[in-house]
Amino acid sequence: MTTDWNSMDNESFRAQVRDFYDRNYPAELRNVWRYLTWDEVKDWWPKLYAKGWAAPSWPAEHGGMGLDATKQLIFHEERLDVSRGPDFGGIVLLGPVLIEFGTPAQKREYLPKILSGEHRWAQGYSEPNAGSDLASLRTEAVLDGDEFVVNGQKIWTSWCLSCNQMFALVRTDKTVKKQEGISMLLIDLKAPGVTVRGIQNLSGNQSFCEVFFDNVRVPRANLVGELNKGWTVSKALVGFERLLVGNPRHCLFALERLRAIGQAHGLMRDACFVDRFTQLRLDVEDLGALYERFCDIVRSGGVLPPEVSMLKLFATETVQRITEAMLEAAQGLGGTRDEQVFDGLPMDILGIYYLARPTTIGGGSSEVQRNIMSKLVLQLPG
Ligand SMILES: Cc1cc2nc3c(=O)[nH]c(=O)nc-3n(C[C@H](O)[C@H](O)[C@H](O)COP(=O)(O)OP(=O)(O)OC[C@H]3O[C@@H](n4cnc5c(N)ncnc54)[C@H](O)[C@@H]3O)c2cc1C
Repeated sequence: MTTDWNSMDNESFRAQVRDFYDRNYPAELRNVWRYLTWDEVKDWWPKLYAKGWAAPSWPAEHGGMGLDATKQLIFHEERLDVSRGPDFGGIVLLGPVLIEFGTPAQKREYLPKILSGEHRWAQGYSEPNAGSDLASLRTEAVLDGDEFVVNGQKIWTSWCLSCNQMFALVRTDKTVKKQEGISMLLIDLKAPGVTVRGIQNLSGNQSFCEVFFDNVRVPRANLVGELNKGWTVSKALVGFERLLVGNPRHCLFALERLRAIGQAHGLMRDACFVDRFTQLRLDVEDLGALYERFCDIVRSGGVLPPEVSMLKLFATETVQRITEAMLEAAQGLGGTRDEQVFDGLPMDILGIYYLARPTTIGGGSSEVQRNIMSKLVLQLPG
């Protein structure tokens, strides 16, 4: 029998989530500020799956917890020190799309494997000349009988070395307006003709990949939604999770480390440092208030307005400013990748600094967010 979590009072639910994570989540995987690999989470994932908690937002009939917006926020708040694993692509992005647009056969085949961790999904959207201007993508899928033949390249594919499947946007009609000739396909990354290459980022992790398709045959049954309607399907992906990017947790994580560095270096008596620290602290308070404003909209069943771009901008630019202050406050120690301990807190300052850099690019760059604000919120002339 499935539990009706939504009928439980909020504090009892919060206590249950906290207790489960305290008992089961590996201590060494807490507060790791980077995405974990499948190897790192593969022993923990079956516990979450067995508990029935792998997919908090999915409806119970598909194996999710069926949480309403308030309970989802509590669930996320109680996991602020839990690192994101390669579950993101399947649980957060693809699952809800298959529930809405998938055929009965796709739901039967894929949803249980997402939940169990057997399938880990990468998001294959960006290409070398199609990032902000995604509709220009050129990876092509041509129908040949009951199969598509896929040729082309994707890039910046997160966690792909931990994934074995990809949902990809591909061009299926070159003769129409850019957005109208795109389809979404489910591609097995182990199929012949697929090559996945890791890209080493600044911090030394291979968190991205480039993926090449050379005459890869994909069953027609793997088309999600209608042919040439992939743009509409892909737009359905951005929803509740967009809000979580604006969660102040990364800022709080970095601010606590900035405080520890200041404490250890006696900077809490330096007026310049205290002034900078206080400004950052107040910005994080403001970010928390802004985040709550958008949470309230979700809680009351509303649709997130384009102003949510402001939250993404403010969260990512604030975390970059805090990590810059950390680097400077640590002086010579900020320039090494060795783990340092400040005021009892271990940290890799340069690693944290590096990880904050791409946050203003992924999920839509700051410039693109500003364009959205100028057009849709401020209605400035284009
Ligand atoms: C951490 C991270 C994770 C990612 N994960 C994935 C993933 O899993 N799957 C995936 O498909 N992609 C992923 N991406 C790719 C990401 O979606 C793209 O990097 C992003 O959309 C920007 O595209 P681009 O890199 O091609 O840059 P471009 O679009 O070429 O932009 C280059 C510069 O020009 C600016 N610019 C572009 N257009 C405009 C405009 N109209 N007005 C003003 N300025 C503009 C941009 O802001 C940027 O500064 C990820 C990126 C990052 C950083």
